[in-house]
Amino acid sequence: MKVFIPRNDIKRKVKELAEKISSEYENGLVVIGVLKGAFVFMADFVRQLTCPVYIDFIKVSSYKGKETTGEINLELSCSIDLKGKDVLVVEDIVDTGITLSFIKEFLAEKDPKSLKVCCFLDKPERRKVDFIPDYVGFTIPNRFVVGYGLDCSEEYRSLPYIATLD
Ligand code: 5GP
Repeated sequence: MKVFIPRNDIKRKVKELAEKISSEYENGLVVIGVLKGAFVFMADFVRQLTCPVYIDFIKVSSYKGKETTGEINLELSCSIDLKGKDVLVVEDIVDTGITLSFIKEFLAEKDPKSLKVCCFLDKPERRKVDFIPDYVGFTIPNRFVVGYGLDCSEEYRSLPYIATLD
């Protein structure tokens, strides 16, 4: 295991994202975290936002160990009424794009005023569907990463940095 994105770079990036997003949502927003991987990034991110913020979560399953199955199941839906609200989905990483395409389609049916996605990490080389996140922390090459919420078979989520696992 090797440190790939150190703690201080993460702190700087989260602050930068929160400043940008706070200035674009001065009237407030609903932040929906994708469980489980987004929980660490989301906790750091929302505490840096300066606009009013409402918190919710969604949970889907698709990943088994290192390989995605391509099939998405909704395990937990959000409970806030999203109709007419500005909604931002917060995710740990976008890889094939399948998960977030599914989530965006699902949430769009709830009639929000706006619906955007913020991903901490993006691996554009791996895309299988056409999906572009609105905000990205770091664009990374095709490597399997863990830490800062991201797991490998439920291990490593609590690492305070991003590491590669080869
Ligand atoms: P997608 O549907 O975009 O292929 O996959 C999104 C999900 O796959 C992420 O939420 C994450 O759980 C998992 N994933 C994709 N790449 C990685 C990676 O490099 N490391 C870890 N730990 N999970 C990944």
